[in-house]
Amino acid sequence: MKTPQIHTNDYRDTLSNVTQTGKRIWIYPRIEIGQFYKLRTVVAWVLLALLFGLPWLNINGQPAFLFNVLERKFIFFGVVFFPQDFHLVAIGLITFMVFVMLFTVVFGRIWCGWACPQTIFMEMLFRKIEVLIEGDHNAQRRLDAAPLNWEKIGKKTLKHSLFFALSFLIANTFLAYLIGKNELLRLIGEPLALHWGKLASLLIFTSVFYFVFARFRELVCIVVCPYGRLQGVLLDKKSIVVAYDWLRGEPRGKKSNAVEAPTKGSCIDCHICVQVCPTGIDIRNGTQLECIGCTACIDACDHVMDKINEPRGLIRYASLEGITKQEKGLLSVRVLAYSAVLVGLLGVLGYLLTTRSAFELTLMRTPGLTYQRQPNGQVSNLYSLQLVNKSTAAATVTLKIKDNAGVIRLIGNASVVAASEVANLSFFIDKTPAQLRSGNQTVEVEIWMNNALSETLSTSFLAP
Ligand code: SF4
Ligand code: SF4
Repeated sequence: MKTPQIHTNDYRDTLSNVTQTGKRIWIYPRIEIGQFYKLRTVVAWVLLALLFGLPWLNINGQPAFLFNVLERKFIFFGVVFFPQDFHLVAIGLITFMVFVMLFTVVFGRIWCGWACPQTIFMEMLFRKIEVLIEGDHNAQRRLDAAPLNWEKIGKKTLKHSLFFALSFLIANTFLAYLIGKNELLRLIGEPLALHWGKLASLLIFTSVFYFVFARFRELVCIVVCPYGRLQGVLLDKKSIVVAYDWLRGEPRGKKSNAVEAPTKGSCIDCHICVQVCPTGIDIRNGTQLECIGCTACIDACDHVMDKINEPRGLIRYASLEGITKQEKGLLSVRVLAYSAVLVGLLGVLGYLLTTRSAFELTLMRTPGLTYQRQPNGQVSNLYSLQLVNKSTAAATVTLKIKDNAGVIRLIGNASVVAASEVANLSFFIDKTPAQLRSGNQTVEVEIWMNNALSETLSTSFLAP
């Protein structure tokens, strides 16, 4: 049995984009338009349309998504969440973490290559602008090496201006998720002089995005991203990753004549898979932390295989075990079982969200007070009721005592709770002496919302 043939161990203790002296090596990835690139482009445009479009979408009069941390108001798919829903958020986060881990164990870095905003912005927007203005990888290299002239100044100015404008758009989009489109439009519509502080914050975020996509680039994935650092502990030999089939590819090298050909593997050592890699690694060294699963090397190698009349798939989605056993399919029992668990987890989360009650009610006797004796001989206790209306419509509140042994007297007339708002109602319960059973008795209060019984809450009633 062949084992992965490593031609150099340098990659283990060096970064592909840093020299021995710590200087950055700028990566000029060659763009190969293959079947995966085309598919990723379609996925990217759908995700970009969602990312830029969702803040402008309303569901039942509410923003579809809102993450207003300052006002502690969160909306997912038009469903409003309050601090009272913290348990759901906690369960949701735990479910999400388990989902991410299981997903990574089975499918490796598919998220990074196909759905991560960093990859999509970099490869599908900023990189395309760069290629459009400066040309392909060779032209970019020549331009950077060229002395400063008007052509270089013009191209660099145009590129960086577009980069900054795009970063400003991205920063505004994230701001719309934080404060909502109405607030964003209000800020844009008002004179700048009123919002210097907010504009400054926006420009800081814009500068961060600009720096990330203009200069920092692949270092985000290699150095900063915590998900990337987790790969080492999450992946195992059954995880599906972008992998080089060393059994088929080795021994690598050019097949210069018919005698040499049978002694060589499929890899002709053309290095095109390295040239296309946005993180500058050689996938033939095996799975590496720097691999973001972008599939560029699959497309590149498939094109090479087409040219030398060999079957595609020398670099492909596969697990280490799959390559060792030369299995072609990806759908193992484990993949199906884990996928079932992932669907189950999403189902649990969906169930929790969809069965969440529309109202949250908290009833308590006003602290510090006991009872009041009324001139007509009745005894009164004061209560406060907090109502959280999580629905998207206003709700009318009606209160009743379950056994009708007493009367509810609302203080004020605030019996309507606006959509997605919290209201506090105060009311007395009055009991006649005949309705008093003991000095401390239990009262059950029915809370009707929009003429439907929402909940029956128990509280105590104090009497002489
Ligand atoms: S592109 Fe394919 S053939 Fe060329 S070096 Fe990479 S693995 Fe080998
Ligand atoms: S090794 Fe291949 S899949 Fe991984 S980042 Fe490089 S080009 Fe993309």
